Formats: sequence, structure tokens, C-alpha cells
Amino acid sequence: MRCLALNASYEPLTLVPVRRALRLVIDGKAEIVEAEGDHVVRSERLTFPRPAIIRLVRFVHVPRRFRRQVTNTFLFARDDYRCQYCHRSPHELRSRECLTRDHLVPLSRGGRNEWTNVVTSCSTCNTRKGNRLAEECGMHPATPPHEPHFVHLSWAVRRLTPIQSKYIRMFYGEDALRALKAL
Ligand SMILES: [Zn+2]
Repeated sequence: MRCLALNASYEPLTLVPVRRALRLVIDGKAEIVEAEGDHVVRSERLTFPRPAIIRLVRFVHVPRRFRRQVTNTFLFARDDYRCQYCHRSPHELRSRECLTRDHLVPLSRGGRNEWTNVVTSCSTCNTRKGNRLAEECGMHPATPPHEPHFVHLSWAVRRLTPIQSKYIRMFYGEDALRALKAL
């Protein structure tokens, strides 16, 4: 289980290992907002309730570059694990095929590695598209790529406990939570 870390503003930031969360609490950098059941964690001298939610004591500005970083794990989650050209999911791919990252404007033509320029593509579609633009080859992604919220992505690939869900709901509302659970 991981601990949900909130900014001082209560904005959910990310999930961290429980040990790391406790270290922040012991160092006075965070406070425990909610504990998980009756579980306790022991350090050398101290006993703590196992944190489900911590809140940073001081507000942290999360640099945009961290929020924007594209990883295949998050990219594939954003695109619902489907090739944006032929709409197949991994279990529909043949044995030599895999999901890859396709750049709408190819890197070789000045395209950048950012959320609005990348989509999930199976290796076959990616090869067929080559370094052409959508309008040159008639291959358009099913959904126009967008920059997802950093934290949404973290949640999409991990599991939240009910207590953690409550804080997501408080900050982003029921719709966001439902959208996440549908992933
Ligand atoms: Zn495909």
C-alpha cells in the first residue's frame, strides 16, 4: 500500500511508499492527515499509525516539466491501452507486435516529445505511418491527444484505498474519481 501525499493546499500530488511518507513526518516536513485502520509502523524509537494520507507542511510548487514528462506507462493509460489508429488493445496484437509511442509530428521533422504530440500506436501502425504527417497518410488518431493531469495518471495505474479516494473526490469532485475508476 502507498500513501497519498497532499500539497499544503490539499491538492493531491502523488503516491509515495509508506516508509518515505513516515520519513517526511519524522523530519517535520509533513503531517499525517488520515491513518489506515489500526495498523502501526515502528521506527527505532517511535510508533506511528500507518499513514494513508499525509500533507506537506510547506507548499511545494510542482514544476510543469515534471507534470509534463511523458512515459509509456502513463501514455498507454491515457489512451486506454489502445492503438489510436487501428483501435486494437494489447491482447488483440499479434505476437511480434507491441504498443509504442507515435509522434504526430515526427521527431525528425521538428515534432516534440510532449503530451499533445504523442499517441499510443501499435508497432505495425507506427511503421506504416513512418515519418509522415496525419494529413499526408490519412492516419488520424481516434482521440486528439491532450495533456492529462499529472496526478490523474499516477492514480490510473495504481490502486487507491477508500480513504484516499475520499480526498481525490474532495479536491477534484465525483466526476474525476469516476473517470479514474473507469480506466
Ligand atoms: Zn495499430
